[in-house]
Amino acid sequence: LFFLVMPLGGALQAYTQLQAGLGALERIEEILTLPAETDHDTGAAGVPVGGPAVEFDQVGFSYENGDPVLRDVSFTVPYGTRTALVGPSGAGKSTLLSLVERFYELESGQLRVAGRDVRDQPRDELRSHLGYVEQEAPVLAGTLRDNLLLASPSATDAQMADVLAAVNLTDLIDRTPLGLDAQVGEGGVLLSGGERQRLAIARTLLSAPPILLLDEPTSNLDARNEAALRQAISAVAENRTLIVVAHRLSTVVDSDQIVVLEHGKVVAVGRHAELLESSPLYRELAAHQFLVAADS
Ligand code: ATP
Repeated sequence: LFFLVMPLGGALQAYTQLQAGLGALERIEEILTLPAETDHDTGAAGVPVGGPAVEFDQVGFSYENGDPVLRDVSFTVPYGTRTALVGPSGAGKSTLLSLVERFYELESGQLRVAGRDVRDQPRDELRSHLGYVEQEAPVLAGTLRDNLLLASPSATDAQMADVLAAVNLTDLIDRTPLGLDAQVGEGGVLLSGGERQRLAIARTLLSAPPILLLDEPTSNLDARNEAALRQAISAVAENRTLIVVAHRLSTVVDSDQIVVLEHGKVVAVGRHAELLESSPLYRELAAHQFLVAADS
Protein backbone atom coordinates (compact mmCIF):
# COMPACT_ATOMS: atom_id res chain seq x y z
CA LEU A 1 0.00 0.00 0.00
CA PHE A 2 2.79 2.36 0.90
CA PHE A 3 4.26 1.97 -2.56
CA LEU A 4 0.84 2.25 -4.11
CA VAL A 5 0.44 5.77 -2.78
CA MET A 6 4.07 6.88 -2.98
CA PRO A 7 3.87 8.29 -6.52
CA LEU A 8 1.33 10.83 -5.30
CA GLY A 9 3.97 12.89 -3.63
CA GLY A 10 6.41 12.87 -0.76
CA ALA A 11 6.39 10.48 2.15
CA LEU A 12 4.32 12.83 4.28
CA GLN A 13 1.57 13.03 1.74
CA ALA A 14 1.71 9.29 1.32
CA TYR A 15 1.48 8.92 5.04
CA THR A 16 -1.58 11.13 5.23
CA GLN A 17 -3.21 9.10 2.49
CA LEU A 18 -2.08 5.92 4.15
CA GLN A 19 -3.51 6.91 7.49
CA ALA A 20 -6.73 7.66 5.76
CA GLY A 21 -6.94 4.46 3.91
CA LEU A 22 -5.17 1.57 5.60
CA GLY A 23 -7.48 -1.12 6.76
CA ALA A 24 -10.05 -0.08 4.16
CA LEU A 25 -8.75 -0.01 0.65
CA GLU A 26 -11.97 1.40 -0.65
CA ARG A 27 -11.45 4.42 1.56
CA ILE A 28 -8.16 5.17 -0.24
CA GLU A 29 -10.12 5.05 -3.45
CA GLU A 30 -12.70 7.43 -2.03
CA ILE A 31 -9.95 9.87 -1.08
CA LEU A 32 -8.26 9.63 -4.43
CA THR A 33 -11.53 10.29 -6.18
CA LEU A 34 -12.59 13.17 -3.96
CA PRO A 35 -13.62 16.15 -6.03
CA ALA A 36 -10.93 18.71 -6.66
CA GLU A 37 -10.66 21.31 -3.94
CA THR A 38 -13.38 23.87 -4.39
CA ASP A 39 -12.60 27.48 -5.21
CA HIS A 40 -12.88 28.81 -1.73
CA ASP A 41 -10.47 26.12 -0.53
CA THR A 42 -7.55 27.76 -2.17
CA GLY A 43 -8.46 31.32 -1.33
CA ALA A 44 -8.33 31.68 2.39
CA ALA A 45 -4.93 30.41 3.46
CA GLY A 46 -3.31 31.74 6.56
CA VAL A 47 -3.54 31.68 10.27
CA PRO A 48 -6.51 30.27 12.14
CA VAL A 49 -8.93 32.95 13.19
CA GLY A 50 -9.28 31.54 16.68
CA GLY A 51 -12.37 30.06 18.25
CA PRO A 52 -12.67 26.57 19.68
CA ALA A 53 -10.62 23.64 18.40
CA VAL A 54 -13.59 21.91 16.80
CA GLU A 55 -17.19 22.97 16.46
CA PHE A 56 -20.02 20.87 15.01
CA ASP A 57 -22.91 23.14 14.16
CA GLN A 58 -26.13 21.35 13.16
CA VAL A 59 -24.20 18.87 11.05
CA GLY A 60 -26.11 16.46 8.83
CA PHE A 61 -24.43 13.74 6.80
CA SER A 62 -25.20 10.62 4.75
CA TYR A 63 -22.86 8.33 2.86
CA GLU A 64 -23.56 8.24 -0.85
CA ASN A 65 -27.03 6.88 -1.55
CA GLY A 66 -27.49 6.01 2.09
CA ASP A 67 -29.82 6.94 4.91
CA PRO A 68 -28.87 9.89 7.10
CA VAL A 69 -26.01 8.86 9.40
CA LEU A 70 -25.75 12.15 11.33
CA ARG A 71 -28.59 14.52 12.04
CA ASP A 72 -28.40 18.00 13.48
CA VAL A 73 -25.21 17.25 15.43
CA SER A 74 -23.94 20.20 17.48
CA PHE A 75 -21.21 20.31 20.09
CA THR A 76 -18.09 22.35 20.78
CA VAL A 77 -14.63 21.13 21.74
CA PRO A 78 -12.57 23.85 23.41
CA TYR A 79 -8.77 23.76 23.06
CA GLY A 80 -6.95 21.72 25.66
CA THR A 81 -9.94 19.56 26.57
CA ARG A 82 -10.76 15.89 26.22
CA THR A 83 -14.03 14.85 24.59
CA ALA A 84 -15.27 11.26 24.47
CA LEU A 85 -17.78 10.15 21.85
CA VAL A 86 -19.87 7.21 23.04
CA GLY A 87 -22.91 5.38 21.76
CA PRO A 88 -24.09 2.05 20.42
CA SER A 89 -22.41 0.49 17.40
CA GLY A 90 -23.41 2.32 14.23
CA ALA A 91 -24.40 5.53 16.05
CA GLY A 92 -22.02 7.56 13.88
CA LYS A 93 -19.02 8.08 16.17
CA SER A 94 -16.27 7.18 13.69
CA THR A 95 -18.08 9.11 10.98
CA LEU A 96 -17.77 12.26 13.11
CA LEU A 97 -13.98 11.87 13.18
CA SER A 98 -13.80 11.31 9.43
CA LEU A 99 -15.74 14.53 8.86
CA VAL A 100 -13.22 16.46 10.96
CA GLU A 101 -10.47 15.05 8.73
CA ARG A 102 -12.67 15.98 5.77
CA PHE A 103 -12.68 12.55 4.22
CA TYR A 104 -16.28 13.39 3.24
CA GLU A 105 -18.25 16.57 2.70
CA LEU A 106 -21.09 17.58 5.00
CA GLU A 107 -24.64 17.46 3.75
CA SER A 108 -25.82 20.28 5.97
CA GLY A 109 -24.64 22.48 8.80
CA GLN A 110 -21.10 23.69 9.47
CA LEU A 111 -17.96 22.14 10.87
CA ARG A 112 -15.22 24.44 12.07
CA VAL A 113 -11.66 23.47 12.97
CA ALA A 114 -9.43 26.09 14.59
CA GLY A 115 -12.26 28.56 14.10
CA ARG A 116 -12.57 28.09 10.34
CA ASP A 117 -15.07 26.21 8.24
CA VAL A 118 -13.34 23.03 7.05
CA ARG A 119 -14.50 23.84 3.52
CA ASP A 120 -12.43 27.03 3.62
CA GLN A 121 -9.21 25.16 4.41
CA PRO A 122 -7.15 23.20 1.91
CA ARG A 123 -6.97 19.64 3.18
CA ASP A 124 -3.22 19.81 3.84
CA GLU A 125 -3.66 22.89 5.94
CA LEU A 126 -6.64 21.46 7.80
CA ARG A 127 -4.74 18.27 8.56
CA SER A 128 -1.75 20.20 9.88
CA HIS A 129 -3.95 20.89 12.92
CA LEU A 130 -4.92 17.26 13.28
CA GLY A 131 -3.51 13.89 14.21
CA TYR A 132 -5.67 10.86 13.50
CA VAL A 133 -5.17 7.42 14.99
CA GLU A 134 -7.46 4.82 13.50
CA GLN A 135 -8.82 1.74 15.20
CA GLU A 136 -6.75 -0.51 12.97
CA ALA A 137 -3.56 1.44 13.34
CA PRO A 138 -1.44 1.41 10.19
CA VAL A 139 1.99 -0.01 10.84
CA LEU A 140 4.39 -0.46 7.94
CA ALA A 141 6.86 -3.22 7.30
CA GLY A 142 10.25 -1.91 8.37
CA THR A 143 11.76 -0.85 11.65
CA LEU A 144 10.37 1.00 14.64
CA ARG A 145 12.43 3.94 13.46
CA ASP A 146 10.90 3.82 9.93
CA ASN A 147 7.44 3.89 11.44
CA LEU A 148 8.17 6.77 13.77
CA LEU A 149 10.03 8.89 11.22
CA LEU A 150 7.21 8.68 8.72
CA ALA A 151 5.34 11.58 10.27
CA SER A 152 8.37 13.44 11.65
CA PRO A 153 11.43 12.81 9.47
CA SER A 154 13.72 14.97 11.61
CA ALA A 155 12.93 13.38 14.98
CA THR A 156 15.96 12.42 17.05
CA ASP A 157 16.53 9.05 18.69
CA ALA A 158 15.96 10.69 22.07
CA GLN A 159 12.61 12.09 20.95
CA MET A 160 11.61 8.70 19.58
CA ALA A 161 12.57 7.01 22.84
CA ASP A 162 10.54 9.62 24.74
CA VAL A 163 7.33 9.05 22.81
CA LEU A 164 7.74 5.28 23.05
CA ALA A 165 8.10 5.67 26.80
CA ALA A 166 4.99 7.88 26.93
CA VAL A 167 2.92 5.08 25.39
CA ASN A 168 4.56 2.37 27.45
CA LEU A 169 6.50 0.78 24.59
CA THR A 170 10.02 1.16 25.97
CA ASP A 171 10.29 -2.62 26.10
CA LEU A 172 10.09 -2.69 22.29
CA ILE A 173 13.45 -0.96 22.06
CA ASP A 174 14.88 -2.92 24.97
CA ARG A 175 13.72 -6.24 23.55
CA THR A 176 16.64 -6.61 21.11
CA PRO A 177 20.07 -5.01 20.78
CA LEU A 178 18.80 -3.41 17.59
CA GLY A 179 16.71 -0.94 19.58
CA LEU A 180 14.92 1.45 17.23
CA ASP A 181 16.20 -0.59 14.29
CA ALA A 182 14.20 -3.66 15.31
CA GLN A 183 11.86 -4.88 12.59
CA VAL A 184 8.11 -4.77 13.20
CA GLY A 185 7.23 -7.22 10.41
CA GLU A 186 4.83 -6.93 7.50
CA GLY A 187 1.98 -4.72 8.73
CA GLY A 188 3.46 -4.90 12.22
CA VAL A 189 2.84 -8.65 12.65
CA LEU A 190 5.67 -8.89 15.15
CA LEU A 191 3.70 -6.58 17.43
CA SER A 192 0.48 -7.26 19.31
CA GLY A 193 -2.66 -5.35 18.34
CA GLY A 194 -2.32 -3.19 21.43
CA GLU A 195 1.32 -2.45 20.61
CA ARG A 196 0.45 -1.49 17.04
CA GLN A 197 -2.14 1.01 18.22
CA ARG A 198 0.27 2.48 20.74
CA LEU A 199 3.02 2.72 18.13
CA ALA A 200 0.58 4.70 15.97
CA ILE A 201 -0.17 6.94 18.95
CA ALA A 202 3.57 7.42 19.54
CA ARG A 203 4.03 8.41 15.91
CA THR A 204 1.28 10.96 16.26
CA LEU A 205 2.77 12.32 19.48
CA LEU A 206 6.01 12.91 17.62
CA SER A 207 4.36 15.16 15.07
CA ALA A 208 2.64 17.00 17.95
CA PRO A 209 -0.64 18.03 16.33
CA PRO A 210 -2.68 20.40 18.50
CA ILE A 211 -5.84 18.35 17.95
CA LEU A 212 -5.83 14.59 18.16
CA LEU A 213 -8.59 12.31 16.88
CA LEU A 214 -8.41 8.81 18.26
CA ASP A 215 -10.61 5.86 17.39
CA GLU A 216 -10.13 3.50 20.28
CA PRO A 217 -9.98 -0.19 19.39
CA THR A 218 -13.14 -2.15 20.09
CA SER A 219 -11.23 -5.38 20.48
CA ASN A 220 -10.70 -6.75 23.92
CA LEU A 221 -7.32 -5.99 25.39
CA ASP A 222 -5.78 -7.85 28.25
CA ALA A 223 -5.49 -5.95 31.52
CA ARG A 224 -1.87 -4.98 30.87
CA ASN A 225 -2.56 -3.62 27.39
CA GLU A 226 -5.68 -1.89 28.66
CA ALA A 227 -3.65 -0.08 31.33
CA ALA A 228 -0.97 0.77 28.75
CA LEU A 229 -3.57 2.21 26.38
CA ARG A 230 -5.05 4.31 29.19
CA GLN A 231 -1.58 5.63 29.97
CA ALA A 232 -0.95 6.39 26.29
CA ILE A 233 -4.20 8.29 26.00
CA SER A 234 -3.36 10.32 29.10
CA ALA A 235 0.05 11.14 27.63
CA VAL A 236 -1.61 12.22 24.43
CA ALA A 237 -4.23 14.31 26.17
CA GLU A 238 -1.68 16.38 28.05
CA ASN A 239 -1.58 19.94 26.70
CA ARG A 240 -3.60 18.88 23.71
CA THR A 241 -7.15 18.70 22.44
CA LEU A 242 -8.35 15.13 22.24
CA ILE A 243 -11.50 13.73 20.68
CA VAL A 244 -11.73 10.01 21.27
CA VAL A 245 -14.29 7.49 20.08
CA ALA A 246 -14.37 5.60 23.33
CA HIS A 247 -15.29 1.99 23.93
CA ARG A 248 -13.98 1.76 27.46
CA LEU A 249 -15.29 3.21 30.64
CA SER A 250 -11.69 3.86 31.71
CA THR A 251 -11.20 6.17 28.70
CA VAL A 252 -14.43 8.02 29.32
CA VAL A 253 -14.57 8.75 33.03
CA ASP A 254 -11.98 11.53 33.13
CA SER A 255 -13.20 13.34 30.01
CA ASP A 256 -14.11 17.01 30.21
CA GLN A 257 -17.16 16.23 28.17
CA ILE A 258 -18.86 13.11 26.92
CA VAL A 259 -21.06 13.28 23.82
CA VAL A 260 -23.65 10.49 23.73
CA LEU A 261 -24.82 9.56 20.23
CA GLU A 262 -27.71 7.38 19.17
CA HIS A 263 -28.88 6.86 15.58
CA GLY A 264 -26.75 9.80 14.45
CA LYS A 265 -28.13 12.28 16.96
CA VAL A 266 -26.61 13.78 20.07
CA VAL A 267 -28.83 12.62 22.90
CA ALA A 268 -26.80 13.94 25.84
CA VAL A 269 -23.62 15.91 26.60
CA GLY A 270 -21.98 16.13 30.00
CA ARG A 271 -19.49 14.64 32.39
CA HIS A 272 -19.59 11.07 33.62
CA ALA A 273 -21.32 11.72 36.93
CA GLU A 274 -23.91 14.05 35.38
CA LEU A 275 -24.73 11.64 32.60
CA LEU A 276 -25.12 8.72 34.98
CA GLU A 277 -27.91 10.81 36.55
CA SER A 278 -29.48 12.27 33.44
CA SER A 279 -29.05 9.85 30.52
CA PRO A 280 -30.64 6.38 30.54
CA LEU A 281 -28.64 5.41 27.44
CA TYR A 282 -25.38 6.49 29.07
CA ARG A 283 -26.27 4.53 32.20
CA GLU A 284 -26.90 1.48 30.07
CA LEU A 285 -23.64 1.86 28.14
CA ALA A 286 -21.69 2.38 31.34
CA ALA A 287 -23.29 -0.68 32.91
CA HIS A 288 -21.94 -2.71 30.01
CA GLN A 289 -18.53 -1.01 30.15
CA PHE A 290 -19.19 0.59 26.75
CA LEU A 291 -19.22 -2.80 25.04
CA VAL A 292 -15.74 -3.97 25.89
CA ALA A 293 -14.19 -4.64 29.22
CA ALA A 294 -10.64 -5.60 30.07
CA ASP A 295 -9.95 -9.33 30.09
CA SER A 296 -8.39 -9.78 33.44
P1 ATP B 1 -18.85 1.43 15.87
O1 ATP B 1 -18.91 1.71 17.33
O2 ATP B 1 -19.41 0.08 15.53
O3 ATP B 1 -17.51 1.69 15.25
P2 ATP B 1 -19.89 4.02 15.00
O4 ATP B 1 -20.77 4.64 16.02
O5 ATP B 1 -18.49 4.50 14.92
O6 ATP B 1 -19.92 2.43 15.16
P3 ATP B 1 -19.99 4.61 12.19
O7 ATP B 1 -18.85 3.70 11.86
O8 ATP B 1 -19.75 6.06 12.15
O9 ATP B 1 -20.62 4.21 13.60
O10 ATP B 1 -21.18 4.23 11.21
C1 ATP B 1 -22.42 4.92 11.22
C2 ATP B 1 -23.30 4.36 10.11
O11 ATP B 1 -22.72 4.65 8.85
C3 ATP B 1 -23.46 2.83 10.16
O12 ATP B 1 -24.79 2.54 9.78
C4 ATP B 1 -22.48 2.34 9.14
O13 ATP B 1 -22.94 1.14 8.57
C5 ATP B 1 -22.49 3.47 8.11
N1 ATP B 1 -21.19 3.61 7.44
C6 ATP B 1 -19.99 3.76 8.03
N2 ATP B 1 -19.01 3.92 7.12
C7 ATP B 1 -19.61 3.84 5.90
C8 ATP B 1 -19.14 3.94 4.55
N3 ATP B 1 -17.85 4.16 4.26
N4 ATP B 1 -20.07 3.83 3.55
C9 ATP B 1 -21.37 3.65 3.82
N5 ATP B 1 -21.88 3.56 5.08
C10 ATP B 1 -21.02 3.64 6.10
